[in-house]
Amino acid sequence: MVAQIKNWIIRRIAVGAFSKRRDVLRFALTRSFWTTIAAVGLNFGVYQLFGRLGFLNVTLPPDPWADTVVTAFVAGPICFLAYYLIGKAIRDLSVSRDAFERLSRTDPLTGLMNRRAFVDVISALNAPYVVAILDIDRFKVINDTYGHAAGDAVLVEVARELRRVLGRDAAVARLGGEEFGVILRDRAKDETIAVMDLVRAALATRTFDVDGSEISVTFSAGVSRGDGKTGYSILLTHADKALYLAKASGRNRVVHSDDILAFVSSADSDAGKIAV
Ligand code: GH3
Ligand code: MG
Ligand code: MG
Repeated sequence: MVAQIKNWIIRRIAVGAFSKRRDVLRFALTRSFWTTIAAVGLNFGVYQLFGRLGFLNVTLPPDPWADTVVTAFVAGPICFLAYYLIGKAIRDLSVSRDAFERLSRTDPLTGLMNRRAFVDVISALNAPYVVAILDIDRFKVINDTYGHAAGDAVLVEVARELRRVLGRDAAVARLGGEEFGVILRDRAKDETIAVMDLVRAALATRTFDVDGSEISVTFSAGVSRGDGKTGYSILLTHADKALYLAKASGRNRVVHSDDILAFVSSADSDAGKIAV
């Protein structure tokens, strides 16, 4: 019985059954109504049974209506209060659970999705899509020159700019440090590079005013296309390799994972081109 009640409460919390105050009130009113009816019935039954068995030192209720009214007035408010408190406790728990869930999926600095949420989103995708991993170039220099707090402010501005330029069509996450992840709807390689180049150019031509200092940043990106069937970790590995090549071949550029082989073979024939 205790386990059943416990499971029932957990289920209510999980489905957000009491997302509004009105739901709690409705729950308390309906439950207390039916419990009061049951209490009145039980009262009658017990009176009848105990009276007939001679357990009670009273005659059967002299006035059944008076007995009903008294029972209803005693049981009703007590039940209502108890159900209301239970409903309110369940609601408070589900609200704090939602808040905790949201926090655990949000990057506190930028308000973007964090890595966990990003991975959840791409691992749930079963249609083709494109993923990009962006890494700000020489970010350490910004920290060293302007201080860590200025670096944080730049990260916030970069996040805002990415969201602004990519719009509703893309999901943006901060994967950690100065690394961002983007999920784009499926498109061909050339179109993907064109979109990411637009974002890159938009950021490269902006300057952020941080405590009176004009700071500008560029990023390098690796992009890869997921077919919705291959595991997301393979896709991320491809995007990471492409990012590595974007860094190694000069930064402030976008490399598609389909071009990795072309990059590597051109690097073989021109050993000086790739330098980290
Ligand atoms: P690269 O072009 O090769 O990416 O060079 P980089 O300097 O950006 O890369 P590196 O990995 O050498 O340095 C990353 C820096 O990012 C070092 C670290 O202190 C800084 N960083 C990581 N997380 C944060 C953060 O939350 N806030 C700030 N301000 N800096 C951070
Ligand atoms: Mg990095
Ligand atoms: Mg970097």
